[in-house]
Amino acid sequence: KLFNEVQDLKGNIRVYCRIRPFLRGQTKKQSTVEYIGENGELIVANPAKPGKEGQRMFKFNRVFGPASTQADVFSDTKPLIRSVLDGYNVCIFAYGQTGSGKTHTMSGPDGASEEDWGVNYRALNDLFTISQNRRTSITYEVGVQMVEIYNEQVRDLLTSDGSQKKYPFRLDICDLINILCVIQSCVIYLIEECSFLILEQFFFLDLHTLGIMSTSQPNGLAVPDATMQPVRATSDVVELMDVGLKNRAKGSTALNERSSRSHSVVTIHVRGKDLKTGVPLHGNLHLVDLAGSERVDRSEVTGDRLKEAQHINKSLSALGDVIFALAQKSTHVPYRNSKLTQVLQSSLGGQAKTLMFVQLNPDSNSFSESLSTLKFAERVS
Ligand code: ADP
Ligand code: MG
Repeated sequence: KLFNEVQDLKGNIRVYCRIRPFLRGQTKKQSTVEYIGENGELIVANPAKPGKEGQRMFKFNRVFGPASTQADVFSDTKPLIRSVLDGYNVCIFAYGQTGSGKTHTMSGPDGASEEDWGVNYRALNDLFTISQNRRTSITYEVGVQMVEIYNEQVRDLLTSDGSQKKYPFRLDICDLINILCVIQSCVIYLIEECSFLILEQFFFLDLHTLGIMSTSQPNGLAVPDATMQPVRATSDVVELMDVGLKNRAKGSTALNERSSRSHSVVTIHVRGKDLKTGVPLHGNLHLVDLAGSERVDRSEVTGDRLKEAQHINKSLSALGDVIFALAQKSTHVPYRNSKLTQVLQSSLGGQAKTLMFVQLNPDSNSFSESLSTLKFAERVS
C-alpha cells in the first residue's frame, strides 16, 4: 500500500500537449509539427531552418494531435478528476499563446453542444454521475466558485453585479449563507480541536493517527469572499458558467481582448461524508484558463497595456517556478510570488495532482511562440 502511494506521488505532475487543427476558412499553411509519437514524443520544425538543423524534440506524458476530439482528451483526464471524490486536490490548467486553444480545451467553443464540451463541463458531469452512483455509501455536496485574476487582483465572477465585493456594508442572502457556513466550519473545527486536546491530555489518545478526525482547516477556501454556488446537476453549472462569462466580459469592451489577458479560475469544492463511518472528506478541483503567454513587444506597448503584460509575465513565471520547485522536490516552493499561485496553492504540491495542457497553434508563423511555450513545459516536466 505504502509502495503504491510513493509511486503515485512521483507522478503528481502530468503534462499533455495539445495541437489545435488549422481553422476552417484558414488556407492550409505550413505546419510546424513534424512528428507526433505514440508515447508523447513531439518534433517541431523551424520554418526558417529546413532539414534536421531546425528540428527540436520534446517529450510529454501524451500528445494530442489536431484530430483529437474533446472526448479523447477527457478520457485521459477523467481518472484525475475522479480522485477529487476521494478527497484529493487537483489542478488542471491550459497554457499557451492566445488562439492556441486554451479555452477550447477547458470550456469548449461558445454555446458548445455536449459533444464539444471542454474539460470543465465534462468534469462536473462526471462528478455528479459518480456521486449519484455512490450515494448509498457517501453523500456529496458540490459548490462552485469562479474568479478572474487580472493585474494581480482577484475578481469574483459569480456576484450579481460582477464587481469586487465591498465588505461588510451590503449583504445579501447569499453572503449571509456564506458567512454562516464559515462560522459553522470554524465552530466544528474548534470543537474538534478541543475534544482532541481533552482526549489527548486525559486519555492519551491520538485521534489524528486513529483516523477519526479530519485534518482539514476551517473552511479552507483560497478566496473566501468569492461567491460559492451550490450545484446539483450539470445544467446548474452551464447556467453558472454563462453568468461568469458575462461578468467577465463586463470588465472590458471586447470579450476576447480581456479573456486573453486575465486568468480565469473555476474552483469546484467537493465535500463528502461516509454514511457508515461518518468520516468527512474534502477535495477541490481548480480548472484554470490562463492568460495568453505571448510576449508583447516592449517597444510597442505603453501604459495600461504594458502594466498588463508585466503582470501576466510575472504570474506565469511564478507558476512556472512553483511547478519547477515541485518537480525538483525542492523544500522551498515560492507560492507567495503571485496572486495566481496563492489562489492555486492548495492544489499544487503536497498530495495534490496537477495536469498542464500545453497548447500549440500549428501555424509556422507561430513557431517562435510555440517554441517558448514548449520550453516553459520542458522546464517543468
Ligand atoms: P485561446 O483560448 O488559447 O485564445 P481558443 O480556445 O479561443 O484559444 O481557440 C482559438 C480558435 O481555435 C477558436 O475559434 C477555437 O474554436 C478554435 N479551436 C481551438 N482548438 C480547437 C480544436 N481542438 N478543434 C477545433 N477548433 C479549435
Ligand atoms: Mg481563451
